[in-house]
Amino acid sequence: MADIRKRIGIMGGTFDPIHMGHLILGEKAYEQFQLDKVLFMPSGNPPHKKNRQGRATDEQRVEMVRRAISDNPHFELSLAEMHENGYTYTYHTLETLKTENPDTDYYFIIGADMVEYLPKWHRIDELIEMVQFVGVQRPKYKAGTSYPVIWVDVPLMDISSSAVRAYINKDRTPNFMVPQSVLAYIKKAGLYK
Ligand code: ATP
Ligand code: MG
Repeated sequence: MADIRKRIGIMGGTFDPIHMGHLILGEKAYEQFQLDKVLFMPSGNPPHKKNRQGRATDEQRVEMVRRAISDNPHFELSLAEMHENGYTYTYHTLETLKTENPDTDYYFIIGADMVEYLPKWHRIDELIEMVQFVGVQRPKYKAGTSYPVIWVDVPLMDISSSAVRAYINKDRTPNFMVPQSVLAYIKKAGLYK
């Protein structure tokens, strides 16, 4: 019988703001793993961290993701980790997704900093059985791990949300670091000043 299982990528992140690195990563994983689509899943903030000074609110982070992915038909926004009470664990999110979609294999896309951090993830030994981790090299991180990560082939991108925020804060324009639609939103909302 033909393989009819779906293959879905997940890009999780704070996305404060979403930047070109995230988008390129999602696209390369989509191509290299022949994914059906990639879910962009902003993570919630714990209640005590909500609306942190100088940062975007949950709604603003979601809106920037929405804008950044709007012209890519195989990118989709997922609010699975956006709960009223904030914090969620990937383990629980995946447990729910897999129960709801037993015909789908999930590919969780993470940068090298997150690969290094994998041993500390909540219930990682169970999580690793539920999802295929896809790793992407990142400048300044030497990612080696004993967990089964498949590496995606993407040129090193020295771009981060912190760098974008620092640009805005210094009144510089982060050209080619975030999509124009996101930059326009940041300016209009007066974020990261
Ligand atoms: P911050 O600078 O605020 O920590 P960030 O750029 O790391 O933000 P996140 O939202 O924390 O962005 O990252 C979401 C995911 O994307 C993480 O798995 C992270 O490792 C990965 N990622 C972000 N930027 C890159 C990059 N330039 N290369 C590879 N992976 C990246
Ligand atoms: Mg980060």
